[in-house]
Amino acid sequence: MQTTQLSLEDILPLTCTRSGTCCHGNLVLLNPWELFSLAKEKKNTPREFRDLYTEYGGTKLRFDGKAGWKNKKACSQYVDGFGCSVHLGRPLACRLFPIGRQIHSNEVHYIYQGAKFPCLEGCPEVVKLPHLSVGEYLQGQETEHFEKAQDAYLELMQNLADMAFELFLDTGLAESGDTKTLPLWEVMGNESPEVLANRIGHEWLDCLMIPEISNDCVDPINFVQKHTELLQVKAQEKFSALNTNQELHDASVMIMGVALHLAQGIGANRKVLAEHWCDTAKDFLKNK
Ligand code: SF4
Ligand code: SF4
Repeated sequence: MQTTQLSLEDILPLTCTRSGTCCHGNLVLLNPWELFSLAKEKKNTPREFRDLYTEYGGTKLRFDGKAGWKNKKACSQYVDGFGCSVHLGRPLACRLFPIGRQIHSNEVHYIYQGAKFPCLEGCPEVVKLPHLSVGEYLQGQETEHFEKAQDAYLELMQNLADMAFELFLDTGLAESGDTKTLPLWEVMGNESPEVLANRIGHEWLDCLMIPEISNDCVDPINFVQKHTELLQVKAQEKFSALNTNQELHDASVMIMGVALHLAQGIGANRKVLAEHWCDTAKDFLKNK
C-alpha cells in the first residue's frame, strides 16, 4: 500500500472529532508493555486483560464490540457514547492514529497510509478543526514512552533470535548436518498467530506476554530491562543442560518462535524476518 512520508513540521488536520470511527474494525497490535499498560488502566491483571480482551496470544486487541461505523465491530475497549475506556493506557497505534511509525536502517519515519489523509474517509469534518504539526500532535498524545518501549522490544526480539542462532550455529547442531531447524524457522514465519502461539505453549507465552513485573513499574525501559532478565533466566533454566541434537533443535526452534511471536506484537513482518534469519544462518555456514 502507498504511504505518505511526513516530517515533524508538516501541518495536518490532527484534532480528533471524537466520533470513534477509527475504534471500529481496526487492527491494534500489542507488545508486552502495551498489554501491561492497558491492564493497569483497566484495573485487571495482565493475565485477565489478555484472556478477556486480546487474541493472537495477547498480541492483538479484540474488536468484538457493538457494530458501528460501516457496520464494523468496535474495539473491546470502546464504550458507545463515551469513547475509549482505557484512554490513559491506550497503545501506541491508538496514540499515533492516523499517523503510522516505521523504522528503516535504525531511522524512525512517520507516515500515513495511502495518498489521502486517513481521517477524511470516516470523519471529513476533521478539516474544520484546528490543524497541528506532526511534532505537536505526537507530544499531545504522549507517545514518547510507548515509542521507547516499541524500540526496546525490537532490540529484545533480535536478542531472542540471536539466542536461536547460537543454539543452531555454536553448539555443533548445524555441523552435525541438521536439516530440520532452518526449515522450521521459516515455517513459523508463515504460521497463523494462533498456531505459532500454540507451538510456543503457555509457559513461554506467559513469560513473553505477561511477565511478572510489579505494577509500580512506570518506566518502559526499566520494564523491558526487567523483562529481558526474566527471559534470560527462563532460557538459562531451560537451555543450560542440553545434550542431544534433538534437544538443541527443539530449543532453537522454541526461542525463534518466541522471537517471532514478539515480532507479531510489534508489527514486524514475520515472514520476511524468518526468511532473512534463515538466509543469514545459511550464509554464515557457507562462508565458514
Ligand atoms: S478517524 Fe481521525 S478524526 Fe475520526 S475519530 Fe479517528 S482519529 Fe479522530
Ligand atoms: S484502545 Fe481505545 S483508542 Fe484504541 S481502538 Fe480501542 S477504544 Fe479506540
